[in-house]
Amino acid sequence: LLVIKGLHKEYNDLIVLKGIDLKIKKGEVVVILGPSGCGKSTLLRCINGLEKIQGGDIRYKNESIVSKDVNLQDIRQQIGMVFQSYDLFPHMTVIENILLGPLKVQKRNKKEAMEQACELLDRVGLLDRQDSYPRQLSGGQKQRIAIVRALCMNPEIMLFDEVTASLDPEMVREVLDVILGLTKQGMTMIIVTHEMNFARSVADRIIFMDEGDICETSEEPEEFFTNPKTERAKHFLNIFQ
Ligand code: ATP
Ligand code: MG
Repeated sequence: LLVIKGLHKEYNDLIVLKGIDLKIKKGEVVVILGPSGCGKSTLLRCINGLEKIQGGDIRYKNESIVSKDVNLQDIRQQIGMVFQSYDLFPHMTVIENILLGPLKVQKRNKKEAMEQACELLDRVGLLDRQDSYPRQLSGGQKQRIAIVRALCMNPEIMLFDEVTASLDPEMVREVLDVILGLTKQGMTMIIVTHEMNFARSVADRIIFMDEGDICETSEEPEEFFTNPKTERAKHFLNIFQ
């Protein structure tokens, strides 16, 4: 579904990604771990077409998303992304936030989009909050709304960048449960997280990054956590466990 080859990314003189190779199959859940500053967010942003890259290729459904004539708006509808800071529009209600993309970008029928939005809201337990404003919601609620908003575009892949990092511990679970629910539906996902137990339970594959490179890949998450192959991964896990 997604094939990344030799991805190279720099900011001015700083080399952030040093030739990343990565293939994601439909339905796969890949968790990316790694120390702060190793390039995890940058990688997700490149996949979502938010960053210009300096080398390599990213292909989605066998079409390069880095070529000049690609329709980025199209790509972003198919590859949804949720960030650490819930980026809801403060002056719009929950339902207005959610329906913005489906109605304005996708030009969908209002009734149909509304039905889907309500179904998704119900699934995350927030159907009764559709007329609230973001400021009236807790962090965990806002993050669940941000996920619903991304899902309402019917994306094929979801990217999650530390979506629980700014939440109080008691709200982390409710957001992780929503993501866990998506795995049951077979959603293809790339998840950056520092929640090690969650990573362990949700991942089909663990990717450990360090200094802009993939340092270790494991198809057996349990194996990675109990017996990492590289010294750098061992060191990283020691800090977290
Ligand atoms: P964290 O776990 O702290 O979120 P990360 O792995 O997501 O870290 P990135 O945000 O991808 O790391 O950053 C990788 C490197 O790129 C860092 O050294 C960072 O300072 C640098 N960087 C990120 N964004 C920019 C930018 N817009 N301009 C210049 N440098 C940047
Ligand atoms: Mg980051």
